[in-house]
Amino acid sequence: MPSPRPMAYPDEVRRRAEACLVSGVSRGFNFLPEFGPLYFSSGTGSRLRDVGGHDYLDLVMGWGSLLLGHNPPVIADALRQAVETGSLFQHETVAHIELAEFVARHVPCAEKVRFTGSGLEATLYATRVARAHTGRRKILKFEGHFHGMHDATTLGLSSSPLGERRLDGTVEPTAGSAGVPDVVADLTLVVPYNDLSALESAFRAHRGDIAAVIMEPIAMNMGCIAPAPGYLAGVRQICAQDGAVLIFDEVLTGFRVGLGGAQAKYGVTPDLACFSKAFGCGLPIAALAGRADLMALLGPPGPVPMSGTNSARLLVVAGALAAMRELAQPGFYDGLEKRGQQMAQGLATVAADAGIAASAVSFGGRTSIFFGCPEPPANLRDVASGWDADFHTRVYRELMTSQHVYGFIPLPNAPDPINVTAAHSEADIEEALDKFATAVSS
Ligand code: PMP
Repeated sequence: MPSPRPMAYPDEVRRRAEACLVSGVSRGFNFLPEFGPLYFSSGTGSRLRDVGGHDYLDLVMGWGSLLLGHNPPVIADALRQAVETGSLFQHETVAHIELAEFVARHVPCAEKVRFTGSGLEATLYATRVARAHTGRRKILKFEGHFHGMHDATTLGLSSSPLGERRLDGTVEPTAGSAGVPDVVADLTLVVPYNDLSALESAFRAHRGDIAAVIMEPIAMNMGCIAPAPGYLAGVRQICAQDGAVLIFDEVLTGFRVGLGGAQAKYGVTPDLACFSKAFGCGLPIAALAGRADLMALLGPPGPVPMSGTNSARLLVVAGALAAMRELAQPGFYDGLEKRGQQMAQGLATVAADAGIAASAVSFGGRTSIFFGCPEPPANLRDVASGWDADFHTRVYRELMTSQHVYGFIPLPNAPDPINVTAAHSEADIEEALDKFATAVSS
């Protein structure tokens, strides 16, 4: 029997899509568990309209990018102006300099900045710079942390081989994607997050061979999971002692938990950091930033060449600059955090009222509820052992089909967080919570 569809778009749309796009989508994650592809026609503020004319309260918000909501006037105006100026000079403009200055002013590690077109490119260059700097081969990442799908970082995602933990705390590498040769997969070590002794064991076992530790300082791709007190400082110290480069992947935390990202929030400065998503508020732009000596390894002058025909076109730079100025308005982050906490507390209360054990967590509006986990999990192993995926899937299905709330997507082994943005009013959150209460009890 076909899965129920959340939207009654004409079958013709899906037939046409499937005839030319693989599985009817242009990005794999857009093929949703249970529902497959969805097709939308417009978005404003916190709302999305599907091609069948139905409106949704959007809590996915461009996979966390749209911190100012859909189609914010400040970005639309900046884009219009850039189009009129001509936006394909290929070379830099004063707007590029202003955007880099903005990053350098607010992000503690950002002595130098380069823009890229996607988060994946930023993490790819970060790992390459780390290897060039250290002359070492291995990259260490954490279970459930996501850094884009390049060869060094596909391990330990959804299919984290939890059963194959080695005595030294690392996980036996198995490529997280077909097409990644074992010889490359063998160069990636995967350890549990929030576990300093596992990290120390890995450094003991691979002494002098680890080029970089790459991590989401607040894990935001397996639900939201905070670093334990002192954990980031511990990671920083271990890397410094060993000479490994510490990379914070702030693609989700950057410009979301504050202008300085998680590194400013926790007072721990990495060597390199990657930004995208909220940096651009939906526009295709990303950045690699960090210590001047490491960044100087990028060509020119350094030996790590960088390319990207579509990177940092004036169009997206002008839009991102307008977005950053909006984020820098007094009170922006206080308001965002307040609404995120309203959502998290509301979700927890609804679950408690329904007699369901759960914990809810929110950072900069990115919010998750872990059904089956009365305490917030500390890492993917906790999620794997406690999270009630079946119940979560039922709630997700009900919200999508009956309540027209787009979000609460269950990933293979963790809940995908929802995203509260500056475009979500208190009334939007109350509406979401009412609908959540109906979905939980139906
Ligand atoms: N790092 C993190 C933390 C991410 O969440 C993502 C995307 N979800 C990426 C990197 C990859 O970014 P992109 O999709 O722009 O390649």
